[in-house]
Amino acid sequence: MTTTDRRPTLPRAARIGFRDVPIDRTAFADQAEYGCYHVHDDRIEINAGLKASMQALVVVHECLHAMFATAMPPVDDQTEEAIVRALTPQILAWIRDNPRLISLLAAR
Ligand SMILES: [Zn+2]
Repeated sequence: MTTTDRRPTLPRAARIGFRDVPIDRTAFADQAEYGCYHVHDDRIEINAGLKASMQALVVVHECLHAMFATAMPPVDDQTEEAIVRALTPQILAWIRDNPRLISLLAAR
């Protein structure tokens, strides 16, 4: 992060349902790989080489995979990926475009 970059950094975990799913920023050997949700050990890896705006998109994408592992009807991997890819930019835009609604929904 530079002194002019005021974006918050990724948290160490995301609350998904009843669990905290760790988020690890990892130096990926393949820069074409953005992130991964590891279903067997229930954790997310994000390519540490990505710009902050891309990390935000990838973390939403991987969190959606984690939600599928918990609460979505079983679908094949290709169908899940297609759904996640379709929803990711829309959810991120919805969050960014509705800060007052998000604040209201986040209030406990
Ligand atoms: Zn995916």
